[in-house]
Amino acid sequence: MEYGERWAVIQLSGCSGCPSAVFSSPVLQDLVYSMPVAYFPMVTDSQRVLSADIAVVSGAVCKRAEEELLKRVRESCSKLVALGTCAVYGGVVSREVESAKAVPEVVEVDQVIPGCPPPEKLVGEFLIAEVSGGEFRLPSYNVCKECPRAPLRRKPPIRVRYLEPPEELQAKACFLDHETLCLGPVTRGGCGAVCIELGVPCHGCLGPPAKSYTSQLANFLSILDIQLEKSKLMQFVSRYIRVGVL
Ligand code: SF4
Ligand code: SF4
Ligand code: SF4
Repeated sequence: MEYGERWAVIQLSGCSGCPSAVFSSPVLQDLVYSMPVAYFPMVTDSQRVLSADIAVVSGAVCKRAEEELLKRVRESCSKLVALGTCAVYGGVVSREVESAKAVPEVVEVDQVIPGCPPPEKLVGEFLIAEVSGGEFRLPSYNVCKECPRAPLRRKPPIRVRYLEPPEELQAKACFLDHETLCLGPVTRGGCGAVCIELGVPCHGCLGPPAKSYTSQLANFLSILDIQLEKSKLMQFVSRYIRVGVL
């Protein structure tokens, strides 16, 4: 895509957090508003799918009409990007709707940008690569790599008793050193460890750095001595990605 090429923005089942991450960002505004929008039913009257150079799709596929729309978009747009964790993996929508599908389960995608919502930095890097003809790659490192807390000091088995950090937790220590579960080790980086900056452990919204979440998670859990109710643990680790699906 170059400046002046047309793009389409499609929202399936989900919230407006993903499109907002693109359109409300002060950093991205000049870039975003320089690209003519061919199709954006959320803000325009027209429901007719028009051809575009790039389609950005957020949300999961829950209805037959969404599946049909997605297929029409795929046919009429040169490049298709799944934006946000609902589109990429099913995300929180797939927790509520058993039959929800991720976009790559329905059509071929050219790029995925996970996150709930996707980090502005990654969206910006993708758009800049598009307009400059450069290459965009998702980070292959995990959240721990960009975490401001001290690296984990304990050796396995690491005891885990909390899903919320205890009050006495030292501001600079790794959550796992304080028996608090954090999915940073099995989650793709790129968000700047924003939750950890705010004192909240990573819940894994960017998904796994490599394809198999389930096997990475199983390896990670095997080094922990977990003293938590199984249902609470499963809720925590499958907030964004259903275990067994990936
Ligand atoms: S990924 Fe998050 S922000 Fe995006 S549609 Fe799903 S719930 Fe909303
Ligand atoms: S486990 Fe969590 S708190 Fe510890 S280094 Fe990784 S991201 Fe940071
Ligand atoms: S720290 Fe984890 S949950 Fe928070 S934005 Fe980053 S990947 Fe998502």
